[in-house]
Amino acid sequence: MPDKIRRTFQASLPHSPTPLSDVYREVAATVMSYPMGNIHPRFWAWYMGSSNFTGALADFLAAVQGSNLGGGNHAAARMDEQVVDWCKQMVGFPASSSGSLVSGGSMANTVALIVARNVKAGVDVRERGVAAIERPLRFYASDQLHSCHRKAIEAMGLGNRALQRIPTGGDLRLDLEALRAVIARDRAAGFQPACVIGSAGTVNTGAIDDLQAIADLAVTEDLWFHVDGCIGALIAIAPDNCDRVRGLERADSIALDPHKWLHAPFEVGCVLVRDAVAHLASFAVEQEYLGKTPRGLASADWLYEYGLQTSRGFRALKVWMTLKQHGVIKFGRLIDQNIAQGHYLDELIASEPLLEIVARTTINIVCFRYRAPGLDEEAVKSLNAEIMMRLQEDGTAAISDTTVHGRYCLRVAINNHRTRRSDLELLVREVVRLGQQIAHKG
Ligand SMILES: *Cc1c(COP(=O)(O)O)cnc(C)c1O
Repeated sequence: MPDKIRRTFQASLPHSPTPLSDVYREVAATVMSYPMGNIHPRFWAWYMGSSNFTGALADFLAAVQGSNLGGGNHAAARMDEQVVDWCKQMVGFPASSSGSLVSGGSMANTVALIVARNVKAGVDVRERGVAAIERPLRFYASDQLHSCHRKAIEAMGLGNRALQRIPTGGDLRLDLEALRAVIARDRAAGFQPACVIGSAGTVNTGAIDDLQAIADLAVTEDLWFHVDGCIGALIAIAPDNCDRVRGLERADSIALDPHKWLHAPFEVGCVLVRDAVAHLASFAVEQEYLGKTPRGLASADWLYEYGLQTSRGFRALKVWMTLKQHGVIKFGRLIDQNIAQGHYLDELIASEPLLEIVARTTINIVCFRYRAPGLDEEAVKSLNAEIMMRLQEDGTAAISDTTVHGRYCLRVAINNHRTRRSDLELLVREVVRLGQQIAHKG
């Protein structure tokens, strides 16, 4: 983005009117051309869905229709519940479970962990607060867990140390033997093991924890079993790969993210909770200004009682219209396609002597780097970071970076229905070319 454009965002509060056509012209010239989103076939940075036209249209219609999804007896609220039901069906959760559409995966995980805390606390946390909990609660996950869980645990008043990260080995999955040992140690030390979080696709490398084994462990250890399925819960709809997330359907709660692999425009996440009563018991409040009536607009459940927001946007419409137009089978096929592309890229890298794979490729996330023999870790890092920045700046591709067990690498997350294999071939060629150029010329 040129500085001239950047400076337009420092203009101060407008006091007098501007014709809408001029306003739009300015937006078209400044904002629309400089996105940070996944609408290009070679956008593979971080982890984002790649949006879709119908979803954009739905967001427009939702704003025009103007419903508040805090609840009530109206069409949009029924559609909101229907989309939650469709999410249950996609991941194999029972119809009797509850759920809510939220801003994204971070909030979905947060809502689920709050319910887990309240159920496992042994005291009425809502009334008495975390200080009344007799034995400090412990939550467990692998060290590859997404950072939103830390924020949630901290905001819940449990403190970061309540979230025990179990070190991973080469497979980057939750180590169940190590977990059992930590749980036994914690019990002996007077802690209350409360919840195990399984990752169905870690954000770093796409590793999928053994969800069946975690479900068994949760039963024997009497833990709440939560699955962070922001990336991988929807693999359940992909015929070639659904076996990878078996066990997901046994969780007590799941977070999933329609703005990732369902390509909904931002924002929409979904939390599902098996025990609908426990879910409601965590958030329901009786408000004199939000009562229920036998008839009229207030004669249905208040959806705001399943989470933290009161006013809620009509997020359901973009998911509903897109699923209706395309059908869920197509989305499953696109997920399989992205995973096949991840493995294809892995093969391209493996057959290129100047590149190396840094973490095992499980699904659609590939971690690799330019080798640069003879250079130390710091130099390898700056060389690869330079490759990444040049790819972004010259517009070839947007990829991101990470560090896996101390090794810096480039990271490609192919969550994109517009990507073709030729795009991946181009990426490999360009990384090699840039790597050679930078290594030789600096
Ligand atoms: C993206 C992601 C999140 C956070 O979801 P947002 O929609 O970005 O809030 C949480 N966990 C995992 C594994 C993710 O990939």
